[in-house]
Amino acid sequence: MKNDQEHPAVATSPDGDPWLLTPGPLTTSPTVKQAMLHDYGSRDSHFIDINNRICRRLTQIVNGHKTHVCVPVQGSGTFVVEAMLITFIPRSGKVLLLVNGAYGKRMVEICSIHERAYTILETTEDLPVDTDELGRQLAADPGITHVAVVHCETTSGILNPIETVAKVTAEHRRSLLIDAMSSFGVLPLDTSNTPFNAVVASSNKCLEGSPGMGFCICDSETLKKSSGNSDTLVLDLYSQWKAMERNGQWRFTPPTHTILALGQALTEFDAEGGVAGRGRRYRRNCETLVSGMRTLGFKTLLPDALQAPIIVTFLTPADPNFQFDGFYEGLRKRGYIIYPGKLTVSDSFRIGCIGHIFEDQVLGLLDAIRDTLGVMNVSNCGP
Ligand SMILES: *Cc1c(COP(=O)(O)O)cnc(C)c1O
Repeated sequence: MKNDQEHPAVATSPDGDPWLLTPGPLTTSPTVKQAMLHDYGSRDSHFIDINNRICRRLTQIVNGHKTHVCVPVQGSGTFVVEAMLITFIPRSGKVLLLVNGAYGKRMVEICSIHERAYTILETTEDLPVDTDELGRQLAADPGITHVAVVHCETTSGILNPIETVAKVTAEHRRSLLIDAMSSFGVLPLDTSNTPFNAVVASSNKCLEGSPGMGFCICDSETLKKSSGNSDTLVLDLYSQWKAMERNGQWRFTPPTHTILALGQALTEFDAEGGVAGRGRRYRRNCETLVSGMRTLGFKTLLPDALQAPIIVTFLTPADPNFQFDGFYEGLRKRGYIIYPGKLTVSDSFRIGCIGHIFEDQVLGLLDAIRDTLGVMNVSNCGP
């Protein structure tokens, strides 16, 4: 018999890669990867058709097709977050930033670099953003023109109360900008009950395309008034939209393969039943993961009521035999990639429920965790 430590059972995706249980990049389906095996010129009419179809579909997902338009941008998710903030907040504006994790703090950094006036309303990483205080601050400071918030703060996996944030912001007649990077396509977001001026997300995360582009779905009236706000050449949603209106083309070289992959990913998203169907699969992944980990003795950072079915933060076991690097390596050898924690409050690690993964992979991961803990000689998984 071979030693288990040298020859553990290795799980792989259909393409032979480890499963990615992370906040991104994520596992994609074989058919999404196959869709990228073409070279298109940016002026090719077939390519332009795919691009238009993607933009229309993305706008429908948030029920914004009558009022909003979709503007895509090259780059990772942060590129489009930055593009949204500097295109819509004029240099004379002031934004209230709701912060309860690293992605909220990243918006602070963006506003600071681009010298947009801001005020921060911060809660700890294990608490949702404070909508009562939001109302009070908007009432007290008429200089605030915009509110910006992260829908699911991927730092902890917490779900922020987006409908209430939108309601309070609308009551005070301010503009709302949303980073829905890790929730778009899974957590319902609908312009009819959650009014917003702009929301951003990316091709990878819950839409399960390949990384490489972000998009902003924004109210067309807001967009038309945003000319000249951006202080960069490339991160300017107004200019990108203008160019696309003119000839259907991206302003600079488009990520053609990423767009082809996203077209296929959206076909698969629809076949799964859209937001409802994908949400169901991720919730099941999340429930299986959390209950399996609790059976092993692990503790989640968040109570179930605050947990989004996106990524789960587990507290690092106090057992001195537990070391994250060894744990990570043990799981990687067995075919599963997890992620370190990003909390400032306590030691933790994260396991994602998103991407082209199913309950079988979560069950396989739990087996791999059990094996790895045995090899590491960890007996107590509590913090
Ligand atoms: C992933 C993510 C981003 C963007 O991150 P990139 O690494 O730039 O793709 C932004 N906001 C949230 C909430 C995210 O989860």
